[in-house]
Amino acid sequence: MPSLSDKVQLRVPGPTPCPERVLQALGRQMINHRGKEFAQLLQRSTDLLKHLFQTRHDLFLLTASGTGGMEAAVVNTLSPGDRVLAVTNGYFGERFAEMAARYGAEVVPLEFPWDKPADPDRVRHILEHDPAIKAVLITHNETSTGLTNPLAEIARTVKEHDKLLLVDAISSLGALEFPTDQWGVDVAVTASQKAWMAPPGLAMVSVSPQAWRAHAQARMPRYYWDFSLAREFLEKGQTPFTPAVSTIYGLLASLELMAEEGLARIQERHRRVGERIRQGTKALGLPLFPEERFASNTVSAIRVPAGVEVKRLLEAAQAHNTVLAGGQDRLGKEVFRIGHLGWVTEEDADTILEALGAALTECGHLGAAR
Ligand SMILES: *Cc1c(COP(=O)(O)O)cnc(C)c1O
Repeated sequence: MPSLSDKVQLRVPGPTPCPERVLQALGRQMINHRGKEFAQLLQRSTDLLKHLFQTRHDLFLLTASGTGGMEAAVVNTLSPGDRVLAVTNGYFGERFAEMAARYGAEVVPLEFPWDKPADPDRVRHILEHDPAIKAVLITHNETSTGLTNPLAEIARTVKEHDKLLLVDAISSLGALEFPTDQWGVDVAVTASQKAWMAPPGLAMVSVSPQAWRAHAQARMPRYYWDFSLAREFLEKGQTPFTPAVSTIYGLLASLELMAEEGLARIQERHRRVGERIRQGTKALGLPLFPEERFASNTVSAIRVPAGVEVKRLLEAAQAHNTVLAGGQDRLGKEVFRIGHLGWVTEEDADTILEALGAALTECGHLGAAR
């Protein structure tokens, strides 16, 4: 995979840069979304996505950002009054919990400190003592804190208790290990502008047989998000409503690139890049925000040194052609983030680190002198 090299390094955790082949696909003329050509486009994209999700079950493309996919997961499988365990250790986990609550779920919060992973034993304990819980909501990769939760272990517990498992995998699927069926994830959600190297506009969701059984009973209101409708239309090679055709063009091009590289190599590349970013930021004297053992290979949240303002640091990095992200919510002044997912190589990591080093020096951070 070539690096972005001398171009602007867009390194926020989504949108991510699009490779040239994706950009070219985006410029294609419109087609009838009820026609044969679109049916082929949709079918091929869905097949490649299933392969990369490692699922044999259903998978839908929804024209929405990732949050729309999260909402679809909730409203398609739950009813008002359902007890739902919401595992949170960051901003996006809180969003998922809040969403379920708004639709009338009885949310049982299980909160962890934002710099610590969710503890599978605590999840197990609650599921053992609160049998009325129907579903577990969790964020696999907390983009707000740069932390990857130990989902394999948590999923095992959830499945031992035969609960529904709804996962926000928006910034992990397509980059980190995520064997959807093997882990028993009932609805996994991701979005085109993250590891998928495509523009924003599509949420992708997998739906397990257990999720379909829940769907048959689920009474939360839904119209645009209805999985039954999505399945009915997909059988005809269509989507219920007008899809983001251009984004699908781009996504198919990126899925083909991903299939060529192969899942194992994609994951390995993200591991190497993640490691390089962590070593590099440490060498600059900057501590990671999360516990290192759980640091994400798609996004790094890094504490800003005392005396350096996040806003100024981002501006300084931007002047070096590198676009980084600030902290979210309560971490706004404490951390900045580097997105390293999708189209990213070790060479890009070095370019990012170089710009960061220069920006830090300009902001007066002495530890930056290597
Ligand atoms: C980006 C992201 C979201 C939000 O996705 P949108 O596409 O902005 O709606 C939710 N959860 C996680 C973990 C994310 O990384």
